[in-house]
Amino acid sequence: MTNCKYCKIENNLIYEDNIMLAFLKEKPCTSGHIIIVPKEHFTIMEQVPNEIIGKMFDFSNILSGILFEVMQIQGTNIIINNGFEQDVPHFSINILPRTEKDDLNFNFKPLKFKDDQIDVIMHNIKKGLKGKEKAIEEKKPKLIDNKKSSWIEKTFIRIP
Ligand SMILES: [Zn+2]
Repeated sequence: MTNCKYCKIENNLIYEDNIMLAFLKEKPCTSGHIIIVPKEHFTIMEQVPNEIIGKMFDFSNILSGILFEVMQIQGTNIIINNGFEQDVPHFSINILPRTEKDDLNFNFKPLKFKDDQIDVIMHNIKKGLKGKEKAIEEKKPKLIDNKKSSWIEKTFIRIP
């Protein structure tokens, strides 16, 4: 797409292969805020082929681990603004390194719903999932070797 900012990104590139790019966000929310985008232009997540999105999430996981190794952080937030509050109309995964003192705050105000309202929401979502079993099963889970992920232990020790 010719006037898409992420289709022609060149600055602060940290990784590139034939399907995706990763770069430091120009106006970061926290220090080390990384954006991962597919090279091909897709506006929202639903348009991105499984193979591409799978590789992007695998890479998000790797990058998140690297951030633990190279920065003094307590965690990461992996965020996707899918249509709503999406500032660039090109699908992206945000990786935000987090520390207790980073001043970023997701002040979600908990909402209360009545049981019958919850039932309607559950019914509609389950109805939407009907017939999608094959698509879900095709994405086979990959086993993680926790022994090799030393940062997991280090991180959870830090959480109060
Ligand atoms: Zn684009």
